[in-house]
Amino acid sequence: MTGRGCVVAGGGPGGVMLAYLLGRAGVPVTLLEARRDFDRDFRGDSLHPYTLELLDQLGLAVGLLALPHHKARYFRFHTPAGSLTTADYGRLRNAFNYVALMPQARFLDFLAARFAALPGCRLLLGAKVSDLVREGDRVVGVRYRDEHDTHELRAAVVVGSDGRFSKLRRLADLPARSLGATSDLLWFRLPQHETDPPDADVDLFFGRDHYVGLLAGPQGWQVGYSLPKGGYPAARAAGVAPIREFVDRHVPWLADRTHLLTDFAQTTLLSVDISRVDTWWRPGLLLIGDAAHVISPVGGNGILMAVQDAVAAANHLAPALLGSGVSDAVLQAVQDEREPAIRSVQAQQVQIEQRAAHARHTGRPVAPPALLKVITAIPGMRARAAKANAYGPFPPRLNSLR
Ligand SMILES: Cc1cc2nc3c(=O)[nH]c(=O)nc-3n(C[C@H](O)[C@H](O)[C@H](O)COP(=O)(O)OP(=O)(O)OC[C@H]3O[C@@H](n4cnc5c(N)ncnc54)[C@H](O)[C@@H]3O)c2cc1C
Repeated sequence: MTGRGCVVAGGGPGGVMLAYLLGRAGVPVTLLEARRDFDRDFRGDSLHPYTLELLDQLGLAVGLLALPHHKARYFRFHTPAGSLTTADYGRLRNAFNYVALMPQARFLDFLAARFAALPGCRLLLGAKVSDLVREGDRVVGVRYRDEHDTHELRAAVVVGSDGRFSKLRRLADLPARSLGATSDLLWFRLPQHETDPPDADVDLFFGRDHYVGLLAGPQGWQVGYSLPKGGYPAARAAGVAPIREFVDRHVPWLADRTHLLTDFAQTTLLSVDISRVDTWWRPGLLLIGDAAHVISPVGGNGILMAVQDAVAAANHLAPALLGSGVSDAVLQAVQDEREPAIRSVQAQQVQIEQRAAHARHTGRPVAPPALLKVITAIPGMRARAAKANAYGPFPPRLNSLR
């Protein structure tokens, strides 16, 4: 017997947004999140103008932006050959002309609380999906474990938004193809000082063998230090001194506090991945967000892509769930709408990865492509780059769901 409504498995930005949008449209939704809370560190904190406009359309932007956040205006590259500003969000002509940098946990807490207050909606924390329930070749529900027991939950459609290591993807036998990440990232925090450059927001500093990404935010600087893929054991053996030296050399204004990085235990490893499944669905099951396609953190747009998947999925699923049911064609329509955007973003990310790998192999520092230098010097181009980054390719518009 097929159940009603939707089970969303995984409470990251994609899952929580989809659950909220469906619930708001009147669909009964159960959101299952394996962890007992939304606290997570170094998971991406960027809320793009697209996401802020969406929240505004939903009447949630004012409440969310009352929470501490940093308004990032610039996205810049720094290389030994010079610096360039690739995007200036301040030139966008709309109410949200910045990227809001806010701990992801606060964003998820905020949205999940609004979701849980909707009629017919349930948020279950500490509920880990362990299996799919099938009838013939159709997925008709999930089994999940909580601290007490294993439970079965049926639904008209199950959405797997359970992230880059998706259990639902494996259970449905939808393998992800790697597109070739060549680096990993070590993340750590350094304090922010009032004397820091006021225009430092989202900055990438390239050296010969590594690059450092800096993200501003209410909890100080998040620093990401690149390693060649699989280079973690060697980096760990070398200790934090080479990292401190790199930061001191390439970001001299942080040199007065790199001594605070004393131990590898202060760092978190992110194994960078760029991958995608060929088919995002099985009858009765849809994958969205990192479960369907892992985005490298380099462009800072993984949350944007997951949120946009949620919007496209809600546009297609809500009328189907409230009407004649979720056919395979509805699920394919979500993939058809989102895949071109994901392909485009991932192609750019693979290019950046290849440039960094090439620099490592040739021993030459990464330099911004000459064309990029010329293009960003043309008046208006930074605004266009900001617009492209603010909305991503092919941004879906939220249908009026009610
Ligand atoms: C270290 C790091 C830094 C990043 N930096 C950025 C950045 O600066 N900007 C940016 O936009 N993106 C960044 N990203 C990427 C971004 O975090 C992801 O693209 C985005 O979170 C994907 O959202 P999602 O909802 O698809 O999945 P996730 O955010 O991964 O959420 C998946 C959720 O599913 C839950 N789950 C897993 N298994 C189960 C199960 N069996 N049952 C129930 N629940 C389950 C997990 O606990 C998790 O809460 C970064 C990622 C990492 C890892």
